[in-house]
Amino acid sequence: MKVILPKYAGFCFGVKRALQEAVKATEQDTQPVFSLGPLIHNPQEVKRLAEEGIAVAESIEDIPAGGTLVIRSHGLAPEVVEEARRRGLNIVDATCPLVKNAQEYAQLLHDQGYSVVVIGDPNHPEIKSVTGYTEHEAIVINDESMVKKLPEMNRLGVILQTTLQLDLCQHIVSLLLPKARELKVFNTLCDATFKRQQEALEMARKVDMMIVVGGHNSANTTHLAEICRSAGSITYHIEEASELSEDWFKNCKVVGVTAGASTPSWVLNEAVERLKKMTEGEEKG
Ligand code: SF4
Repeated sequence: MKVILPKYAGFCFGVKRALQEAVKATEQDTQPVFSLGPLIHNPQEVKRLAEEGIAVAESIEDIPAGGTLVIRSHGLAPEVVEEARRRGLNIVDATCPLVKNAQEYAQLLHDQGYSVVVIGDPNHPEIKSVTGYTEHEAIVINDESMVKKLPEMNRLGVILQTTLQLDLCQHIVSLLLPKARELKVFNTLCDATFKRQQEALEMARKVDMMIVVGGHNSANTTHLAEICRSAGSITYHIEEASELSEDWFKNCKVVGVTAGASTPSWVLNEAVERLKKMTEGEEKG
C-alpha cells in the first residue's frame, strides 16, 4: 500500500502565531496564563500546553487579577475584552490577522448602516467574536434554508467565516442577491485553508482512502473530512495514531493523509509513522 502525504497540513500561521504568543506570555511575570476556551481545538496539544503553564479558563471570572489572558486565533467580542481589562487582566492579543480583518469589516458595515449577515457556524468562537463587532446584531446563517427566512433588506453586507468552503459561500451569496437593493460582500476566506481544502479534494479523488488527522472538536478538520467524503473517498477522521486500525486498509492500495490547521506536527507525524508500519512504501504528494 502506498501512502501519499500532503504539502499543506498541520498548523496554519494563525495558530502557530497564537501558540508562540502564549508561550512568550509564560516567560513574563504576569502569571498565570490562560486562554478563554482551548487555545487550539486539539485535546493532545491543549494537554501539552497545560504542562507549559497555559491553562484553559471557562470564563473571565476564572482568571485571577494580575494574570494573563491570551486571546486565541478566533478572537473575542469587544465587550469580553473590555470585561477582562476591567478585571485587571494582562491581555495578549493573538487573534489571527485574517479574523481581525473580518471583525473590522463587520464593524465597518455595521457603522455604515448595513444589515450584516455572517455566513458561518453560529456556535463557532470566531463567529461569536465577529458578530460582537456588530453589537451582536448580525444575522448568522449557514445553509440555504436560512436565507429564505431573511426579510428583504435595503443595504446588506456579508462576511464569511474564514474556514468555509468557497463553493458554499458562492452559493449562499447568489441566494442573498435578490434579498437586497445593495449587496456588499467581503471575501474573508482564509487562503491557507483554501489551499489545504483544494489539496485534500484532489488527493481524495485519486486515493482509495483518506485519513484526516485532527481534533474531533476542530471545525476545520471536520470540514476537511467532509470535503474528502464529497470526493467519494472512504474517509476516517482520527484524533491520534492509536485510532488507526489495520482492518481499514485490507483492500486499500493508496491512502492519502491530511491534517487540520489545529493539528500539531507531532500528532500528524505519529499517525504517519504508525501508518508506515502498517504499509510497505510511501510517496510524497
Ligand atoms: S485557519 Fe486561516 S484564518 Fe484561521 S487561524 Fe489559521 S490562518 Fe487564521
